[in-house]
Amino acid sequence: MRELEERVALVTGASRGIGRAIAVKLAALGGVVVCAGRDETALGETLRLIEGQGGSAEPAVFDVTDAEGAAAAVKEAQGRHGRLDILVNNAGLTRDQILVRMKPGDWRAVMAADLDGVFHVTQPAAKIMMRQRFGRIVNISSVIGLMGNPGQANYAAAKAALIGFTKSLARELGSRNITVNAVAPGYIETAMTGSLSDEQREALIKALAIPRLGTPEDVAEAVAFLVGPGGSYITGTVLNVSGGLYI
Ligand code: NDP
Repeated sequence: MRELEERVALVTGASRGIGRAIAVKLAALGGVVVCAGRDETALGETLRLIEGQGGSAEPAVFDVTDAEGAAAAVKEAQGRHGRLDILVNNAGLTRDQILVRMKPGDWRAVMAADLDGVFHVTQPAAKIMMRQRFGRIVNISSVIGLMGNPGQANYAAAKAALIGFTKSLARELGSRNITVNAVAPGYIETAMTGSLSDEQREALIKALAIPRLGTPEDVAEAVAFLVGPGGSYITGTVLNVSGGLYI
């Protein structure tokens, strides 16, 4: 099942968690995966996993908040392979705090990485995809962007904005054979959710239709579907991968 053979993919935030699982999955399907992140050592571990399963990957070290760095990395990836077929905007962070205590820096840090970062990477990538008349873009949003969450007004705002961005781009780019979709994970076992106490974890699980936290691989499967042949007539959607947290 090497349905992504000869496809070139760029996955941001591929140094751990959900992004790493997406990179590993796309490579397992035959894609060449450019693994982006700020931490070269952590990216190296993703590359080792991919190469260990016989896949093809390379690192791209840049910060998504840096527009010039992002554009240069996209251009370099396209230059090396002659194309860029798939972009997964997965890099993101949280700076949780209730609104009345939220520092402007916490607001800006989330907007800069989770929203501006997507713009910085997608704009140069979309230009390449438009020229080649093919592209698959997946933005990793969150169910928090759909349902809200106390203590995450900054994160919910950025992730909801990403859904509007996705729907608009889907309309702009569909005629060039470029699909643009969002995936909205629920609670997934990664560093981002690693600080939850056992009680918090149990309370979360009680709210789910499928009573377990998700895995990065659960999200990777959804992304692989959207960028693979099965997703060719799907655009502008939000695929909720939350075990029924949000229905
Ligand atoms: P992690 O914290 O485990 O990983 C985040 C990734 O984003 C890292 O690879 C990190 O790379 C990268 N990143 C963060 N900021 C930047 C930046 N400024 N420039 C470049 N890369 C950056 O998070 P998850 O794997 O849990 O989350 C991945 C995505 O999924 C995020 O967008 C998150 O919002 C979303 N999500 C996660 C959920 C969960 O429950 N875990 C639920 C819903 C959505 P670096 O090595 O450079 O730090």
